Amino acid sequence: MECPYCNEEMKKGTLPNETHPYWLPEGKKAPFFRLVVPKAGVRLVVEDSAVWQKATAFYCPKCKIVIARTEE
Ligand SMILES: [Zn+2]
Repeated sequence: MECPYCNEEMKKGTLPNETHPYWLPEGKKAPFFRLVVPKAGVRLVVEDSAVWQKATAFYCPKCKIVIARTEE
């Protein structure tokens, strides 16, 4: 995947998480019970269903940015 800012090739990796990784809008609070994905949470696509959830993410070391895809 090419970085949308500098067009250089991004490094593929994962975002390991103990629960399903998700994005939460500003102003929404993460639940106290961390294993629950809140209704406002947008789930990231997970690479495998092992004990540790891992969302695929691309990193650009030049722009210091990480991009991860979300579920449909
Ligand atoms: Zn970049």
